[in-house]
Amino acid sequence: MALQIFGIPVSRGVAVGRAVLLSSARLDVAHYFVDHGQEEAEVDRLRAARLAVRAELEALRDELPADAPPELAAFIDVHKMLLDDLQIGRDTATWIRERRYNAEWALTAQLDVIARSFDEMDDVYLRDRIADVEQVVERLLHALRGTGALVRGSGNGEDLVLVAHDIAPADMMQFKQGVFRGFVTDVGGKTSHTAIVARSLDIPAVVGAREASRLIRQDDWIIIDGDNGLLIVDPSPIILEDYRVRKQESELGRQRLRRLAKTAARTLDGHPVELLANIELPEDCAAALEAGAAGVGLFRTEFLFMNRADDLPGEDEQFEAYRRVLQAMQGRPVTIRTIDIGADKPLDADADYRDGEFTHLNPALGLRAIRYSLSDPVMFRAQLRALLRAAAEGPLRILIPMLAHVAEIRQTIAQINLARAELEAAGVRHGPVELGAMIEIPGAALMLPLFLRQFDFVSVGTNDLVQYTLAIDRADESVASLYDPLHPAVLQLVAQTISQSHAAQAWKGHPVHVSVCGEMAGDPLFTRLLLGFGLRSFSMHPAQILTVKQEVLRADCGRLAPLAQAVLGEFEPEAQQRALAALGG
Ligand code: PEP
Ligand code: MG
Repeated sequence: MALQIFGIPVSRGVAVGRAVLLSSARLDVAHYFVDHGQEEAEVDRLRAARLAVRAELEALRDELPADAPPELAAFIDVHKMLLDDLQIGRDTATWIRERRYNAEWALTAQLDVIARSFDEMDDVYLRDRIADVEQVVERLLHALRGTGALVRGSGNGEDLVLVAHDIAPADMMQFKQGVFRGFVTDVGGKTSHTAIVARSLDIPAVVGAREASRLIRQDDWIIIDGDNGLLIVDPSPIILEDYRVRKQESELGRQRLRRLAKTAARTLDGHPVELLANIELPEDCAAALEAGAAGVGLFRTEFLFMNRADDLPGEDEQFEAYRRVLQAMQGRPVTIRTIDIGADKPLDADADYRDGEFTHLNPALGLRAIRYSLSDPVMFRAQLRALLRAAAEGPLRILIPMLAHVAEIRQTIAQINLARAELEAAGVRHGPVELGAMIEIPGAALMLPLFLRQFDFVSVGTNDLVQYTLAIDRADESVASLYDPLHPAVLQLVAQTISQSHAAQAWKGHPVHVSVCGEMAGDPLFTRLLLGFGLRSFSMHPAQILTVKQEVLRADCGRLAPLAQAVLGEFEPEAQQRALAALGG
């Protein structure tokens, strides 16, 4: 019987492939495929590491003081024996030769295999000896240290899916190179940043699968059903065939959608709707253009900064990145958010995030986003100067994350003025920008008029707005069922932000642009409701744009507006469901 594991679906589609297990303790070793023809050189690297560790162990033994307990020498001998064991030497080399895994990856893969056979032992003493194997592997990894990125290169063309306890968002970025067909993690929620990046890759993904990384073994065949949040381990040929057919069908569906890329996004009753792209790196612009995005609604610039604690991108490097986005988008508006470091996007994964745990007590409520930037004005102003310089190259909007306090708004504006003055004093070319605020803290939504006075535009970050309104950690799978974008309190805040932004035209003299850039904007289930609230600008991952466009093309805003108001009036789940059903779709 095939094993079935349920988790939270975060990215659609079906993937079938062999499991590549990254156990959390070893997440920071390099994982890459060695080039064709380099397999023997990699086996030599492993051999050299074994020789180095043997020498190390021998030196340790020689240097033992005369009065050392005899067990110590015996332990060292056990480690030396393990080092020569075929399971570590020969079998690790097999992973390198047959799979082209680099030596570190091969070692951790082999350690998982050995650990499994130890797990099955009845004798507790023998079972515990896995610790010795782990120590030997750690020594070998240490001897091999100093190589490359987490994942790079491309495999043998084999279909591989990644299974891990957790993956930091920065590490997830490595998959942009497309090595894996899908991924699974034990932890995480639907709007955790890891899930968001997975969605941007448009590959099937399931998070919050609890025991998956323990139950799935290295190299198992698995099916990832990203539509239903289901994993099937070791599927029977009949199930496999069934999923292959579904995979083909979903590919056909995607092909049909692609035909909409050039169709104008306009509702049945003629309202134009702006569909913008959320991006993490300048390279994502290609996918945005391919999907027919009207511009970039959210560039999460923190991804330029992650895992570069010792070598943060300076003003020039940032300027280059922002300029590239403006150039790639060919005159379309580009909204660039200042860094949203902190919470589940630490600047330095090693320092802030270990084994799937954050080292801060309450990171989502801590030094995050604009709070972080204002705490480091030198770094903040370098980003602002880079942005102002890039603004000379095209239509650029600066978006500030996580504002709540008047003092933060004032300090931010003061820093922008200062950055501009610095550029002027140095005679450096710069351009005009529109300034916007993320509305993602309930306190900000509740005092929106203040934001509407100070800013040219607002963008609703529903991912955090849900998190902070309902006090639900968006990255915690154990409370994922309570993370509810349809909670009446959340809907009130979203609807009110949209309507107040429109109403501001009366006293501001010009409209205040309002968009939604959280995951709600890219979920077709919410398109009609948001249109009914009056939203005309949606920002989402390029992979979602065409699906949402299809909803827009079928929608009639005149009909939806009163129906959406009716949803707002319902607080009981059953009544709300009925009101939502009346929206159609
Ligand atoms: C949000 O909070 O909705 C948002 C778009 O920002 P992020 O997901 O990066 O926190
Ligand atoms: Mg946010």
